[in-house]
Amino acid sequence: MSVLNEVLAANEEYAASFGEKGELALPPARGFAILTCMDARLDPAKYAGLAEGDAHVTRNAGGRASDDAIRSLVISYKLLGTKEWFVIHHTDCGMEFFTDEVIRGLLANSLETAALGENGFYDVGEGPGSHAGDYIDWLTIADNAKSVVEDVRRIKTHPLVPARIPVYGYIYDVKSGRLLEVPEATAIGAAA
Ligand code: ZN
Repeated sequence: MSVLNEVLAANEEYAASFGEKGELALPPARGFAILTCMDARLDPAKYAGLAEGDAHVTRNAGGRASDDAIRSLVISYKLLGTKEWFVIHHTDCGMEFFTDEVIRGLLANSLETAALGENGFYDVGEGPGSHAGDYIDWLTIADNAKSVVEDVRRIKTHPLVPARIPVYGYIYDVKSGRLLEVPEATAIGAAA
C-alpha cells in the first residue's frame, strides 16, 4: 500500500487553512539554520519551536556536515542571511549501527532492505547487489558526541564559512525530547 493518497489528503487539509503563510518572505525570519538527522522521530519544527518561515533546516542521514550540507549552509548565510547555526545529532541514531564496510557489503549482496538485529544490520534479501556503494563515504557515526564535534569543526574551518557565525553542537535525546549540549562542539563553534 502506498501512502500517496494519505499524503495528498493531508496536504489538501493543510492548504485549506494556509492563510497568511502565502505572504512569508524568502529569507528565514529568525535568521538561523539547523543541520540535523533525517530520523523520523525528530521533528525540528517541534523540538526547536519553528513555524513556517522561521529557519532553515537541512537534513540528511546523521545530520552530518557533508559537502552538500555545507553547500546549503553557505547559501543559507550568503544569500539568505542566517547568522547562527545548530548541528543536532541524536541518541539511538541508525548511523551508529553500521560502518562503510558493512553497508558496502550489504549493498554488494542485495538491493533489498536489510534487517536490524542485535549485532547490527544483516541481509535478508536476494541479489544481485551493486558495488557502487564502495565509492560513497557513508559518514557513519562511531561516537555521537565526537561526531557533533567533528561536524562543527568541519563547518567552522570551512573556507566559505565566516568566523562570525556561531555553530552550536547538540544531541537530541529520543527518549526525552531534550536537546543536550556538546560543550566541546559549542566551544569550537564559538563566533570569532
Ligand atoms: Zn539519525
